[in-house]
Amino acid sequence: MTAPAPKSWILGIAPYVPGRATSEDGRKVVKLSSNENPFGTPEPARAAYRDAADHLERYPDAAAIDLRAALAAHYGVEAERLIYGTGSDEVLHLAAGTFAGPGDEIIHVRYGFAVYEIATRRVGATPVVVPDRDYATDVDAILAAVTDKTKIVFVANPNNPTGTYSTKDEIARLHAGLPESVLLVLDQAYTEYLDPEDDDGGLELARTASNVLVTRTFSKIFGLASERVGWGYASPEIINAMHRIRAPFAFSIGAQAAAIAALGDAGFVERSRSHNREWRGWFSEQVDALPGLRAVPSKANFVLVLFEGLLTAEDAYKALMAAGYATRWLPGQGLPQALRITIGTEAEMRDVVAVLRAETGRAG
Ligand SMILES: *Cc1c(COP(=O)(O)O)cnc(C)c1O
Repeated sequence: MTAPAPKSWILGIAPYVPGRATSEDGRKVVKLSSNENPFGTPEPARAAYRDAADHLERYPDAAAIDLRAALAAHYGVEAERLIYGTGSDEVLHLAAGTFAGPGDEIIHVRYGFAVYEIATRRVGATPVVVPDRDYATDVDAILAAVTDKTKIVFVANPNNPTGTYSTKDEIARLHAGLPESVLLVLDQAYTEYLDPEDDDGGLELARTASNVLVTRTFSKIFGLASERVGWGYASPEIINAMHRIRAPFAFSIGAQAAAIAALGDAGFVERSRSHNREWRGWFSEQVDALPGLRAVPSKANFVLVLFEGLLTAEDAYKALMAAGYATRWLPGQGLPQALRITIGTEAEMRDVVAVLRAETGRAG
């Protein structure tokens, strides 16, 4: 007798490593490791969540009718062309599960979101990893990697962990260069952090093209990472196929109520965006002024800091942790030379810079 054998491709998956909230010795630290909103959750969302607690005996609305109506009104998208899941992570998995399987290829960039590779391998497809252009997404490299076996291209814009951004023209060029049979998944988890003039045209492409899926999340600027609310927008054919494999009750009653309320708090989103713009700019300038350090230009709510001098990313990571700040060191993603640091409050960013300045002084 032998024990049940996992599929060979499942054992090829390196488990996802989440951002830390504690130090090695278990101390609670400021979490600048998961790109969460330093302003917390909008108050109307917290109130809606508390109200929802009165009916936990009921299954949630499987069709998410109210949330889809709210999304349709807010973003000008058709409610019947929305898919949703427990976080946009699940929507990414649904895309892979609907359109790819063993023998197929799925393309993502070298320094891309870790979930793409997991979603690819989970369905037995083969990840095809393309090189970057100084950490940014290289449209030509993606197009050069397309073969007869390519089923999906995953692109995050802005990208995580690099924070880099592809313009509307670049996204249009990428889409125009792909065969119609290849699904372009545009992961817009950080899109609300962009200035309006930087919109990459993703929703418009998904509205008009037969092979574009845009994914969005309530985890980042809307401050609801705990509640796992993600959604996607694409053609009716794509959406109808994906609905067949989703879990019937994607999100809880509280999650739906909180998301609808968060969507209605425009002031919270605007405050979050403008705080982020100001302190991302300040932080990037401070980092660039330190010897051997370089901030990759970011349009998201985090900055990838490169350590190209005497101070190593690993030593900076440890010093920040000792000072009470968890950041993301990513040797497992081919970035032993970098830390991804979420933009926190003003006081937190000033403190992080002070630690980095002291450490570069010590190393030099
Ligand atoms: C954070 C993030 C997500 C969102 O994940 P959720 O499952 O919605 O919390 C998706 N894509 C990227 C690139 C991210 O960084």
